[in-house]
Amino acid sequence: MSEHWEIYADWNPWHGCTKISPGCKYCYVYRQDTMYSNERSSSECRKTANFNLPVKRKRDKSWKLAGGKLVFTCFTSDFLLRDADPWRPECWQMMKQRSDLWFYFFTKRIDRFMECVPADWGDGYPNVIVGCTVENQEMADYRLPIFLSLPIQHKSIIASPLISAINLTQYLDETIEEVSVGGESGVEARPCNYDWVLSLREQCVARGIPFRFHQTGAHFIKYGKMYRVKRCHQLSQAHKANIDYKIGKYLVPETVKFEWKESDYHD
Ligand code: SF4
Repeated sequence: MSEHWEIYADWNPWHGCTKISPGCKYCYVYRQDTMYSNERSSSECRKTANFNLPVKRKRDKSWKLAGGKLVFTCFTSDFLLRDADPWRPECWQMMKQRSDLWFYFFTKRIDRFMECVPADWGDGYPNVIVGCTVENQEMADYRLPIFLSLPIQHKSIIASPLISAINLTQYLDETIEEVSVGGESGVEARPCNYDWVLSLREQCVARGIPFRFHQTGAHFIKYGKMYRVKRCHQLSQAHKANIDYKIGKYLVPETVKFEWKESDYHD
């Protein structure tokens, strides 16, 4: 996969977040801040120096972020965090202006979505993909009915960190473009059971919905045995399981039309 990393970019307009659900318990933002001895509290949300990255230009006036990239947006916070309400309108404007980029954000605050979108949102900006995060059945049952009702052109479900078995069947309609599953990382990570992963895969295959197993997590149970997986191997070990379904070689939802062919998919 490494030869394709150039199509990805990160944009973190703000940093810091507050914990709101069980999946937040060992939040990687907090862990990374501790690791890098960040003196400011992880719960204190602040704008970053890269706030306007999508509209930054190089000396030759070309965009710093070349067109066609998939931009992972706000991965050191939650894009719908209330503390960021004053800054978000400007972000929407940048997303709209850079219609040549795809912006992909995950959120645990999907219940705030309609109070966060701009006036011209309509059916959704075509270049914005929203991932609704669910870590257990309770959160799936709360967030996904809301998610399904929202005007968003590209929707994915992020079952991560997966901390229990989840039945998504009733939520897998034709508007869901991908289900992406992963275990928790970090020394205190709660275990992820491969049976839960396979069950989610089965549910997706039954509905023809693209499925991706993106990381094992640090404590991975497979066929009754617990494995400790180093951070550096968690993505590659998941990939080696070779259970992705209808995912292209660029590891993005099926509807993101980069230049790939039908032959890039495997069942
Ligand atoms: S919502 Fe995401 S970024 Fe915010 S505390 Fe929870 S896990 Fe961390």
